[in-house]
Amino acid sequence: MNFGIAPYKIVNCYIANESCTHCGTLIVNVYLVEDGEGKTYPVGSGCVKHIWGKEIKGFREADRKLKALLEERKIAQNEEAYNAALIRLAAMPHPNGYFADQGKTAADYFNFCRKSSANMRKAIFMANTGAC
Ligand SMILES: [Zn+2]
Repeated sequence: MNFGIAPYKIVNCYIANESCTHCGTLIVNVYLVEDGEGKTYPVGSGCVKHIWGKEIKGFREADRKLKALLEERKIAQNEEAYNAALIRLAAMPHPNGYFADQGKTAADYFNFCRKSSANMRKAIFMANTGAC
């Protein structure tokens, strides 16, 4: 499908289940492209990069926002398993010997770490396997 007249810019991005205006594929990471007349089109990231490249106005901001949204979603998805892991980690020693000697636990370690999906996965792995 054709887009309207130039110039084009990205005015929003979000996570959804929609069809890409360009290729018709089901897309989860949606970039909302606006044409020169203010009409908007949901477009997938692959098509945005293929058609306009990363130079399209608003791409960097949208890309940053989308990454943050995806990270939030991963954190929410891991929340239950992470909280269960923390209970088991409270019975395991801190991975650093110095803090372990002071009675700190692996749960203390992860409570100190920045809460990210990557750290949550590490905590879940450690609680399940006992390995760092
Ligand atoms: Zn597409």
